[in-house]
Amino acid sequence: MPETAEELYRRALESADADRRLPMPPVAEWETFPFEGEMRVRPLRPPGDEPPRAGEDPADCWRCRRGDEDAIWSDSRWLLTPLEKPSGLPVIVILQPREHSDLGDLPPELAAELGPLIVRVERAVDAVGEIGRVHVGRWGDGSAHLHFWFIARPARLPQLRTSFAAIWDDILPPLPEELWRENLAIVARALAADGG
Ligand SMILES: [Zn+2]
Repeated sequence: MPETAEELYRRALESADADRRLPMPPVAEWETFPFEGEMRVRPLRPPGDEPPRAGEDPADCWRCRRGDEDAIWSDSRWLLTPLEKPSGLPVIVILQPREHSDLGDLPPELAAELGPLIVRVERAVDAVGEIGRVHVGRWGDGSAHLHFWFIARPARLPQLRTSFAAIWDDILPPLPEELWRENLAIVARALAADGG
């Protein structure tokens, strides 16, 4: 029997203070944690309904409506798109199927292509140069249309390592527009050179 949200909530409150705040985790001591100073955990909220995701119905899905107009690379089944504007890290690109689908219901032929494609995109992002690591993530709590994040972490800035790279992306000043476009062009060229 899985633990229900109510059971988890009650169990967690046993470790919380009177304000329903859990203790700060050791993560605050990591050198990659971007913040310092007095911090506390937000009070734990009781269970509620699952919030709706954007584009749960394909008719309302922004990705399906937008098609491939913002893609820096595509083939007949997949799209690779940048964020809307430059952010702090050298490259962030999003891999999505053209077809409206989530990971759990991805058609078998797309599922078979996904593994090799993830490897290709990682290599293409790494081709930008001065990249320490390409983080690959799929969360899917915001938009229903399947999307994988490829988040390039700059080399030789060890403080930017780990999953906090996604937070550092919001902290670092945005890349100059020209450099951002140059980096995306390298990714597009590397993928095209790699067949497709
Ligand atoms: Zn869609």
